[in-house]
This record gives sequence, C-alpha cells and structure tokens, in this order.
Amino acid sequence: MIDCCIIGGGIIGLSIARELAGRGLSVRVLARDASRDTASWAAAGIFPPAPDFAAASANDRLTAYSDRLHRTWAEELRDETGVDNELEQCGGLHLARDERGIARLREAQAAWLAKGARCDWLTGPDLAAEEPALRAAVVEGRIVGALLLSDEMRIRPPRHLESLYQSCRMRGVEITSAAEVREINVHNGRIERLVIGQADGSTTTDTIQADRYCLAAGAWSGHLAASLGLHIETRPIRGQIALLRLPEQVISRVVNVGLEYLVPRADGRLLVGSTIEDAGFEKITTPQTIERLLAFAQQLLGPLPDATLEQSWAGLRPGSVDGVPFIGAAPACSNAFVAAGHFRAGLHQSTGTAVLLADLMTGRTPALDLTPFLPGRQPEAGSPDSVQAYLARAAEASA
Ligand SMILES: Cc1cc2nc3c(=O)[nH]c(=O)nc-3n(C[C@H](O)[C@H](O)[C@H](O)COP(=O)(O)OP(=O)(O)OC[C@H]3O[C@@H](n4cnc5c(N)ncnc54)[C@H](O)[C@@H]3O)c2cc1C
Repeated sequence: MIDCCIIGGGIIGLSIARELAGRGLSVRVLARDASRDTASWAAAGIFPPAPDFAAASANDRLTAYSDRLHRTWAEELRDETGVDNELEQCGGLHLARDERGIARLREAQAAWLAKGARCDWLTGPDLAAEEPALRAAVVEGRIVGALLLSDEMRIRPPRHLESLYQSCRMRGVEITSAAEVREINVHNGRIERLVIGQADGSTTTDTIQADRYCLAAGAWSGHLAASLGLHIETRPIRGQIALLRLPEQVISRVVNVGLEYLVPRADGRLLVGSTIEDAGFEKITTPQTIERLLAFAQQLLGPLPDATLEQSWAGLRPGSVDGVPFIGAAPACSNAFVAAGHFRAGLHQSTGTAVLLADLMTGRTPALDLTPFLPGRQPEAGSPDSVQAYLARAAEASA
C-alpha cells in the first residue's frame, strides 16, 4: 500500500505530490486529463504583488507565503530538472481608459500602499516613456493614466507544470494519466479504496488503496467531495486566452486593463486574456471572444500586421463561493484531505497550499492558521474575491 494518493494532476495536485515525495513518502497521482487540458496549463501566470501585512486576509496570507516559496521552488526546479519556469519580477502596469478608470486606480493605489506594496502613479507621458509600445494609445487618448506595480511577477504555466512533472518523477512519484476516479469508497469514516477507470469511458476499472488521500481535482472536486460527506462548491469559471506570435517582443511588463491583460513571454509571444464566464464545464473558445481579445490588444498596441494568432484556448477555474480555497482535512473522513477551489490564484497559491497540506498530511503544525480554509466551513458570500463578485465585474465591463 502506498502512503498517499492524490486525485488530480493540475498545479495543485502535482505541487502536493512533489512536496510529499520530498519528505520521503510514496505518492501516486491520478490525472484524468492531459496536462494541457487543465486550468493550470491554461493560466496566464500573473502573480500580483504579495506583501505580508498586519491586516492581511487569509487569502492574502496564503498568497504571500506562496509567493516567497515560488522564488525558492523556481530555482530548485531548474536545478533538479533543467526546466526554467520563467518566473520573473517583470512589474505590472494597470491602465485607466477614462476618468472613472482613474478614480478606480487611485483607490487601488491607496489599497496597495496600505498593504506595503510599491505602487507608483504614472501620467500618460510617464507611461509612454516606460512602455513605448503604448505611446500611440496615450497620444490618441485611449489610455489616460496608469499604476506601476514593480513587484508584479509572471511565470510560464506550461513550463512550470512540466518542471513539476519531471521533479515528481525524479522523486519517485507514480503519475497515472487518463485515470478517472469514478468512485470513492468510504467505510467506517475512512476512504477504503478508489475505483478508477480509463478517461475514455471504457468499462475497465481498477482499485487503488493508500494510507492517505488528497482530493485536488480542480473544478471537478465539488462533485467528488460529496462521497466524503462534504458539500463544497468548486464552480467552473471559464477563461479564454489568445496567444500571438510577434517577430519581437513589444512590451516588457504585464499590462492589465480591468479584467483583461497582456502578458509578454521572453520568446516574443504575447498572451492576451481573459474572460470570466459561467458556462458550466464547456471548455471551449468562441470566435467572437477571441476576436474581442485581439481587438483589445490592438486598442493598446495599435495594428500588429506581423502578428500571427498561434493558438487560443480555454480553461476552467475552480471557483469557491467566498473566493477562499478549501485546504484541510475532510471532517467526516479520517484519511481524506482536500485542496481545491483556488479560482483565479491557483498558480500563485500552489506552493503554499502544497507545503501546508503536506504538513497536515504528515502530522506537522502548518505555518499558517488553516481555519479560514477548512473544507467543512460555511462559506460566506459577498467577498470581493468571490466568484459572484468577479462575474458581476465581468458583466459590468461588457455592458
Ligand atoms: C484563463 C485562466 C487564467 C488564469 N490565470 C491565472 C494567473 O494568472 N495566476 C494564477 O495564480 N492563477 C490563474 N488561473 C487560475 C489557475 O489556473 C487555477 O486556480 C489552478 O490552475 C487550479 O489548479 P487545480 O490543480 O486545482 O485544477 P486543474 O489545473 O484544473 O487540475 C485538475 C486536475 O484534476 C483532474 N481530475 C478532475 N476530475 C478527475 C477525476 N474524476 N479523476 C482523476 N482526475 C481528475 C484533472 O484531470 C486535472 O489533472 C487562471 C485560470 C484560467 C482558466
């Protein structure tokens, strides 16, 4: 019997597996989908500044803790596997299109400064000097001011996943792909076994037994958690992204306007995202949305005659009602743990989630109080980080 079985091979499942294997445990990961079909692969890889400050919320504390760990993990992963996840403190610009946008950014600036983050106001000419590719948008009045968050970082999600995958393998983790958990058999308050089948729907099944289990199945976790006596909602929230190939890179920082953004890659590619859509489990792109994203890029950068649309994709973020992920033990099942519902911040919060959950699974005291993350909590609606708040912001932006 193995020590730990992780259900889910996205960023959360692989990070936990890596951490547990690094502590000497035998670990198996079950992943239904190919890596590139996960939310983790689809993500943009933006890490906003993550200061640790006195009045930090539970989410802020988890992000700050994870942010510090990412810097160490990036180096370790590069040394272990040779894969560079391109974590870089490139800085982020947040742009205003009009007076209303300026008022919002001024509020955001006050909030960032109160948290202790570096946050500078840029006038149009300052912005044009910092990012010459935005000069035309400034001169033509499409952009009227900006905030510069110098501590914003970017990471390249497919590379990060690849490095984690390789690191897991090197640490002895057995990763089974195309393995769908169909049943979780619970007996006397413990998971006794998992019934798995081929993800292609074939009827062949197998069973797996482990000492401890962790449910990290992204947007599909809510459904599986019911077997553990847990009622958690991990609502799928679709995000679409377009990837452009440019002859050479035109911006150096992440550029954010409301919920949309441009993320420059070191090799000249430019990622244009994204949407916040309540479309169930339909993980598809729609032509009108991809066109809208391309129009957004052109509004900022002007015509891009030499750009080619290389790829577009969609991913399903695992939303939680209060915007706080579920991290901890399942109350009615003594050998079951959950790490799910990271919504828009799963990449960023993955390292902290992995270390904290591995602490719980190995009987150590976690460095953060995990009470706000308890899977058995009653989530309170109304948080600005919640799925509902983001859906409302997205609806307002498109009105
Ligand atoms: C467009 C977009 C942009 C984003 N941008 C950012 C960003 O800039 N920064 C950031 O921090 N986060 C971002 N996110 C959010 C981030 O991607 C998610 O929070 C994170 O990837 C969730 O990881 P996960 O491992 O929980 O889920 P997933 O990556 O979806 O992985 C779930 C895993 O569970 C498996 N699974 C599901 N059901 C079963 C089953 N029955 N049996 C076995 N396996 C199963 C799947 O196959 C998969 O391997 C973005 C997301 C999207 C979609």
